[in-house]
Amino acid sequence: ALTEKLSRLVKELRGQARITEDNVAEMLREVRLALLEADVALPVVRDFIARVKGKALGAEVVGSLTPGQVLVGIIHKELAATMGAGTAGELNLAAQPPAVVLMAGLQGAGKTTSTAKLARHLIEKRKKKVLTVSGDVYRPAAIEQLKTVTAQAGAEWFPSTAQQKPLDIARAALDYARKHHFDVLLVDTAGRLAIDAVLMDEIKELHAVLNPVETLFVVDAMQGQDAINTARAFKEALPLTGIVLTKLDGDARGGAALSVRAVTGVPIKFAGVSEKLDGLEAFDAERHAGRILGMGDIVALVEQVTAGVDVAQAQKFAAKIKSGEGFTLQDFLEQIRQMKKMGGLANFIDKLPAQFSAKAGAADMDRADKEVRRKEGIICSMTPTERRKPELIKATRKRRIAAGAGVQVQEVNRLLKEFEQMQGMMKKMKGGGLMKMMKQLGG
Ligand code: GDP
Ligand code: MG
Repeated sequence: ALTEKLSRLVKELRGQARITEDNVAEMLREVRLALLEADVALPVVRDFIARVKGKALGAEVVGSLTPGQVLVGIIHKELAATMGAGTAGELNLAAQPPAVVLMAGLQGAGKTTSTAKLARHLIEKRKKKVLTVSGDVYRPAAIEQLKTVTAQAGAEWFPSTAQQKPLDIARAALDYARKHHFDVLLVDTAGRLAIDAVLMDEIKELHAVLNPVETLFVVDAMQGQDAINTARAFKEALPLTGIVLTKLDGDARGGAALSVRAVTGVPIKFAGVSEKLDGLEAFDAERHAGRILGMGDIVALVEQVTAGVDVAQAQKFAAKIKSGEGFTLQDFLEQIRQMKKMGGLANFIDKLPAQFSAKAGAADMDRADKEVRRKEGIICSMTPTERRKPELIKATRKRRIAAGAGVQVQEVNRLLKEFEQMQGMMKKMKGGGLMKMMKQLGG
């Protein structure tokens, strides 16, 4: 929805030479909503908007850009700068070995998984000798879990049991790591489902005993609005040094990143992007900014769409669906042609917000482009009536169409089936989605 609104505003701002209080207000209102929708906490949103406004007012509009595009650029940049402050992808190990890394966070946040991911990262990228230990004495299965994933990561695991006290475990592990010349000791801890005082005291004590060089707050990106409260509690209890934002592969829009970064004041160092041990990345603030705004490379898309697409055609099409006339094979054909004008499906998908494009690989897209051309051929071999009423297309017509397009009858069947599914989808969207967006962008 933000994409649509922003692009409409981008359009409205075209031809104005300066960003003013007036033309920026509505746009910022949309951004504010988008951030709230993306689960950024309200105070953080307010602050952010104020900063963007400060930067945007009076900004020169140079070259072929429109004020709207300039503003989108400012918002995107500010978002990325806010979330990206500090170094991503690096752990500070500057300590008398073993350098201790303490993992903190709620239960299920991904501490144990991230511990093993970090072990793997340190072994592979930094050639370190790594020991892990679990202080999660409340759940024996959690200790076993760390043992298993540590083995997978190729690190060593220091045994602990549910009968021990976390502090004793910590001391013993530290001692062992010193004696056996480990470079790094990763300490996994217990988490409760919600913040509680006992848990906080325990981890504070662990921190005092271990004197870690990194204290990482592990937080689930899907936690949404609530992440800010969790972050605040951990920030008060511990001198945090960094954040690991997990489950970014989920469909949350990831506003938690902005909130958590703002509240803790420490950098987001890593992002968890799968449950597997190689699913750890240096946090990419640029990309995440795009994801939060849900706009992909909107400036590029705006330019491309206005350059290539037959706007009237797109509008007619969108209006048609909206009016309930239904989606016909002719519309399908027009849609295919629009996509070709924009440089192919792959190019187009690339420009879409991450949540739509994440699943498409380059090879898939290449194949899809070829498929699209075949489909175009098949629809072109149909009469206008057939395109409007595909239910007329029975065996004889199918053979004729297949022959005309130089394909097998099965391919005609496949296209018709796919069209039916697409039609169903379009009916549900009632003119929303892709074409509506194109219309808005092209306007
Ligand atoms: P802990 O209670 O904080 O130790 O959390 P765990 O490490 O046990 O993780 C909880 C669940 O989240 C497990 O099922 C993990 O496989 C899963 N998980 C952790 N990190 C990620 C991630 O980045 N992506 C995905 N998809 N799942 C994750
Ligand atoms: Mg755990």
